[in-house]
Amino acid sequence: MDDTVTRENPAVLETLKKVFGFETFRPDQKEIIENILAGKDTFAVMATGGGKSLCYQLPARILKGTTVVISPLISLMKDQVDGALENGISAAFMNSSLTQKEAASVFKRLRENSLDLLYLAPERFAVGNFIQELTSLPLSLFAVDEAHCISEWGHDFRPDYLGLSSIRKIFPDVPVAAFTATATRRVQSDIISKLNLHSPFIVRASFDRPNLIYRVESKRGLKDQVLGIVKKHSGEPGIIYRTTRDSVMAMAGMLKAKGIRALPYHAGLTQEERTANQEAFNRDEVDVIVATIAFGMGIDKSNVRFIIHADLPKNMEGYYQETGRAGRDGEPAECVLFFGRGDISKIRYFIDQTEDDEERAAAMEKLHKMVKYASHNVCRRKQLLQYFGETVLNDNCGSCDICTGKVEIIDITIDAQIVMSAMSRTGQRFGIMHIIEIVTGADTKRIRELEHNKIKTYGVGREKDKNHWRLIVDELLAQDIILHDGDRYPVLKLTDKGKKVLFGSGKVSALKREESGRKKRGSKAAAFGPFDEDLFERLRLLRKGLSDKQKVPPYIIFSDKTLHEMCRYYPVELNDMAGITGVGDSKLGRYGKDFTREIQSYLDENPDIYPMQTGASSPGVSE
Ligand code: ADP
Ligand code: ZN
Repeated sequence: MDDTVTRENPAVLETLKKVFGFETFRPDQKEIIENILAGKDTFAVMATGGGKSLCYQLPARILKGTTVVISPLISLMKDQVDGALENGISAAFMNSSLTQKEAASVFKRLRENSLDLLYLAPERFAVGNFIQELTSLPLSLFAVDEAHCISEWGHDFRPDYLGLSSIRKIFPDVPVAAFTATATRRVQSDIISKLNLHSPFIVRASFDRPNLIYRVESKRGLKDQVLGIVKKHSGEPGIIYRTTRDSVMAMAGMLKAKGIRALPYHAGLTQEERTANQEAFNRDEVDVIVATIAFGMGIDKSNVRFIIHADLPKNMEGYYQETGRAGRDGEPAECVLFFGRGDISKIRYFIDQTEDDEERAAAMEKLHKMVKYASHNVCRRKQLLQYFGETVLNDNCGSCDICTGKVEIIDITIDAQIVMSAMSRTGQRFGIMHIIEIVTGADTKRIRELEHNKIKTYGVGREKDKNHWRLIVDELLAQDIILHDGDRYPVLKLTDKGKKVLFGSGKVSALKREESGRKKRGSKAAAFGPFDEDLFERLRLLRKGLSDKQKVPPYIIFSDKTLHEMCRYYPVELNDMAGITGVGDSKLGRYGKDFTREIQSYLDENPDIYPMQTGASSPGVSE
């Protein structure tokens, strides 16, 4: 179809300047646009704010015929159309919000060939006569926005997107360009096959958002911490994410009381309230939205200057997507995560409700990665980008809290050398657990058989517990000082960086960990006495889950007294558990494992708690 090719010599750069008012292209925009102008299919993954719209709006302006944009969000269409009209591009949308008369008028303009851009909701493709109408019109391009919605593997699957599979059949000559901000390789190939793209030009742009400044702070006095940031950005738009509706309402109320223009947003508000609050934010009538993750899709505001996560997000995908809403205009914006270890158990509680084993394990793994992001002395940007599969050679991004030295660090060189010495003296042929056992001087059959109790490093770290050493190993892994090698039985190996540290020419530091501030193990065998309240909270939740499942009151499972005792002695082995008041053989058999496992993972997450060992056996390190 020669006549759909460029109207004139594609004055691409001129259009960029004249229509959009930009001097230069953002990365990949030019290549995508040239490809589209050449009439070829495209598949592009670009970070939020990367400038996807321009990639089809600019060709829409140049190409003869109408570019059809499929977009899932009715609420956004109007803004997009308004934006295009502002730039002098003739545009309209067609969705269920239009009256019949309005729709007829759009059709009229389509037939007159006076529209460069038509925004469509995906469900339109289920309307047969509508599509038939389109076939009679000169179309230049189908641009599928948020294309990951077509894939069941994605996280935003929308059944009505499946209808888009028919585009290729009905319009064999019109090129199709698919855009998304999030697509794993699997989702990518799914999109390409579902849309039947013909050897598309594929762009996977870097996910890096250099203007976003990442920072993690320990939660201590959250109110004041949040207030501090909001005040620093006085009069600038920002979003504060919280986990629960109650905390959203409380924080929005607190900010209002301090004279800040803030509104809440969560799924428990009425549709009208939500729309009104979102609109007020979009129009700069309020500065701050305090929201659950329900707030997201549909925020196209380009000048969001800060994103605060007042609670730990469940995973890095969510975190990156939410922070991605800041600084779409390319100006600096701040992303602060307030990290408290107490949040871990709250998320775990929800994950534990997941029935499917695989799903639950995957969610746990994701949570661990999130915790690592917040805990290690490694550039935040590097960690985020690596999570999304990018190779990052640069260790210092120059703008996150780690890279700009805004964190409190401690020297762990000696401990690092102890671990690496144990690795090196055993030929770098053993896994994490074994190395930790050597360092802590565990007296196991395997250690004796291998004569690892004879090496120099054996037991030099017994002053500190296994959780401490586990954290050291994690830190060394995160900093690429050691690496995991092998699939089935991964062993620890030294990297070049590690060798330098081991032989004395390199230092290792870790982030200073927050003090838990909670009471440590209570006095010996006291019937009453202090207990670990955070752990109690967790065990109570576990008990509640079990009691709900079995339809019995919680105290039938274990009394509070029994739980309190667990929160003093931290039993992680069944025979220790058997020594707790109220745990008989039958209950030990039925619930022992659930509770010991919970306590062990609590200890793993709180390495600053040093439970004294109660029985003959030592707590195992859970891998
Ligand atoms: P995406 O859809 O990829 O999230 P948008 O298309 O909304 O991003 O673009 C984000 C912002 O970047 C918008 O404000 C847009 O005007 C701006 N933008 C896009 N391309 C350029 C460019 N080449 N130069 C400057 N700003 C741009
Ligand atoms: Zn950095």
